[in-house]
Amino acid sequence: MDMVKLIAGNWKMHGTSADLGEVRAIATRAGELAGRVEVALCVPATLIHRAAEAVPGFAIGAQDIHHKDKGAHTGDVCAAMLHDAGATVVIVGHSERRDAHREADADVRAKAEAGLGAGLSVILCIGESLDEREAGRAVATVSAQVDASLPQGEIDLSQLALAYEPIWAIGTGRVAGVGDIEEMHAAIRQRLVAAYGQAGSAVRILYGGSVKPDNAAEIFAVPEVGGALVGGASLKAADFLPIVEAGA
Ligand code: PGA
Repeated sequence: MDMVKLIAGNWKMHGTSADLGEVRAIATRAGELAGRVEVALCVPATLIHRAAEAVPGFAIGAQDIHHKDKGAHTGDVCAAMLHDAGATVVIVGHSERRDAHREADADVRAKAEAGLGAGLSVILCIGESLDEREAGRAVATVSAQVDASLPQGEIDLSQLALAYEPIWAIGTGRVAGVGDIEEMHAAIRQRLVAAYGQAGSAVRILYGGSVKPDNAAEIFAVPEVGGALVGGASLKAADFLPIVEAGA
């Protein structure tokens, strides 16, 4: 059975209210394709409220969340605040945060649990470095990340997606080969089923890392690819919508 693909944009530290026209254009086309593909845009925290107001009913997301529900955490934002701003989705464990903010698997798991617990959809990222791939440890590294990052407890698995993003493919224009993607997505599926039983077979596994209009269809044809997490090519509707259409 084919699952509807999820195509999520990750705007990273790009975008102000001057870019709301792009959000509107993306949401309009996503609305036309409803039922055939699911689309979300994870914008900077400062833009969530305005974006959510501009496109009611369209999934606007955040790029991080604090695992606690309040407290002395200067600069952080909790699930209730994201909800209040209008977000329905959150990315956790992106490699740029694992790297620059020293987020470990246990932190990522706590963030995923906080997001799901608050009713947000969660996109949980994993991926190996170039050194790990060249040392032949890509599958082992990612499998261990999955095992240690997956949320546990009373969670709604239909609201969880994983995103396999090889770090060396992010923002570099270098895409993992379809064979590598297939091998890794199969390994991730195995870990999901080990963790959640049969329910783990319905969790979407996205691919991320230099997804563009000209390679999206090929990536989406790979078994177990349930969508994409798109960085650079999600900033403009003209680039992002062909990817969305390839997933529909
Ligand atoms: P990219 O980023 O599409 O620009 O490679 C993907 C990501 O980091 O989510």
